[in-house]
Amino acid sequence: MADDSIAVVDLDRCSPDRCSYECSNFCPPNRTGKECITLRGEDAEQGGPDQVRISEEICLGETCGICVEKCPFDAIEIINLPSELDEDPTHRYGENAFSLYGLPVPESGSVTGILGPNGIGKTTAVRALAGEMVPNLGNYDDDPTWEAVLDRFRGTELQNYVERVRDGEVSIARKPQYVDQIPKQFDGTARDLLEATDERGALDSYIDRLDIGPVVDNDIETLSGGELQRVALAATLARDRDFYFLDEISPYLDIGQRVTAARLIRELAEDEDRAVLVVEHDLAILDLLADTLHVAYGEPGAYGVITDPKSVRNGINEYLKGYLSNENMRIRPEAITFEEHAPRETTKAEPLVEYPDLAKSYGDGEFSLDVESGTIYNGEVLGVVGPNGIGKSTLAQLFTGDLTPDVGDLDFALDISYKPQYIEIDQPMRVDAFLSSITDQFGSSYWNTEIANPLQLNRIMERNLTDLSGGERQRVAIAACLSQDADLYLLDEPSAHLDVEQRVQATSAIRRYAENHDATVMVIDHDIYMMDLLADRLMVFDGEPSIEGHASKPQEMRDGMNDFLSDLDITFRRDERTQRPRINKPDSQLDREQKRAGEYYYA
Ligand code: ADP
Ligand code: ADP
Ligand code: SF4
Repeated sequence: MADDSIAVVDLDRCSPDRCSYECSNFCPPNRTGKECITLRGEDAEQGGPDQVRISEEICLGETCGICVEKCPFDAIEIINLPSELDEDPTHRYGENAFSLYGLPVPESGSVTGILGPNGIGKTTAVRALAGEMVPNLGNYDDDPTWEAVLDRFRGTELQNYVERVRDGEVSIARKPQYVDQIPKQFDGTARDLLEATDERGALDSYIDRLDIGPVVDNDIETLSGGELQRVALAATLARDRDFYFLDEISPYLDIGQRVTAARLIRELAEDEDRAVLVVEHDLAILDLLADTLHVAYGEPGAYGVITDPKSVRNGINEYLKGYLSNENMRIRPEAITFEEHAPRETTKAEPLVEYPDLAKSYGDGEFSLDVESGTIYNGEVLGVVGPNGIGKSTLAQLFTGDLTPDVGDLDFALDISYKPQYIEIDQPMRVDAFLSSITDQFGSSYWNTEIANPLQLNRIMERNLTDLSGGERQRVAIAACLSQDADLYLLDEPSAHLDVEQRVQATSAIRRYAENHDATVMVIDHDIYMMDLLADRLMVFDGEPSIEGHASKPQEMRDGMNDFLSDLDITFRRDERTQRPRINKPDSQLDREQKRAGEYYYA
């Protein structure tokens, strides 16, 4: 028996009425008369009576894995836990259910980050820290008690915190991950929502610094994603609590807004001596935000491990390296690497398209965009950066032909495959049916290697498009965009809702696709790490959001980054060990030197 292995049965997938129990019929111990895979029966705490349970005592472990292969619904996972993991779970949801190891340590006066994929137990950990759930230490059959939890964490950095939770002394404020859901739960204007949460009298300052003023009297249901994100942030930070949990602050915000949000959160922790825990997938922003960092690793949906705290610099470096030193754990086969220098100017391929100066305005000129003429080359990945509301989507729609320019002619006959920023897929259709209607390559080993595997589509193929989460929908939309035959692939904010691991995978899928197909790709995104890994050249937008925008011609990376970051007044330095870009403290020596030299990114 493999005592370091766990069996996880996904009860949403296990469908005994549609299979013939292939799992138990083929299970070697079952075939010799042992009760390894059995039915849950009427007394099952969770699941239906005919769904299966797997005995972790009898199961032979991952090297057998026969049931995993045989189950037609991919409902079973058998996982050998890493031998380095020598502790018991903090919480297990039930028999053959998800287990969480470790817990993050909130600390007054500082910001603690968690870095890791979705589905790894971050919300579970927060529910425990908020006192909403007593962790059962893996004994899901017994009633859990805080005394037992305290025994487990006595003598650790968590002891004091757990005592306070047990005594009901910790109050919490929380910003949810999916801000798009807020209008479904709240009726009224942004001001109504904010006034109800203003426990510290801090509202006016948040409205001002997060630039919510122009929309504060609008109905919540009319706000854009980026406006909702800032309202949700202000509503959370304005509360007067001990512990603040923020599940992702960056989706839909541009870089300037992300940096402002990070500063406000740091001020709350430092000046008001509060404990803040953040989950964030934009690494440049996480780096700026957090003092300490827990890396979370494991198998999403099966088990998750939250490491002891690391310094934010080390934590991100180890995460990028794919190897956690203290834990002696490899979490990814290869490292993610950044180049210190701007990519050298390469000899250009054939131009794909040359476009003239363009202009477009809406209505009575409420917003106007002008675009400097330029050339896009065959086979390049062109990054597009700039604040929100500056005309990036407008340009995208000019290129797709959905909008006609007021000035300039776009007469090229290009096939453009376009992934919009806000993805609306509301056909009641399965993911596999949808994708096979787009490409006849669907299911070929080539398509699987290039698209389905890196975008982790296999486990969601049978789901309905309408039931997908934000991140799942994003991955399907990227796959759909890349699967079409086109001259130009245009992706608007592909990082939104993807966790950090998925961003890395999606980035390499897009990059590889461009290289292997000689395909030309334009990517609009606010995640600097993603841009750095993806783009060959940059198109930079500046101007005054919502009033006028200007698009530069495509530039070399060094010039483009300088243009873009000087506008934002932000400089980056390079981490000595990994060369990853890190935002400089404003007015630090490096910040001043780089600004003087005009080198905002590649110093
Ligand atoms: P994260 O916040 O990292 O995305 P969660 O803590 O929400 O992860 O969930 C981790 C895993 O625990 C998920 O696979 C989820 O399906 C599972 N899970 C969450 N709540 C329950 C529950 N009440 N019963 C069984 N499994 C659960
Ligand atoms: P970005 O993609 O950079 O966020 P957009 O191109 O979406 O910017 O929008 C630029 C500006 O144009 C915004 O102020 C937006 O409100 C406005 N706008 C966008 N579409 C329309 C439209 N169809 N009618 C009027 N104004 C619009
Ligand atoms: Fe049986 Fe375990 Fe093998 Fe599955 S992995 S068939 S439960 S022994």
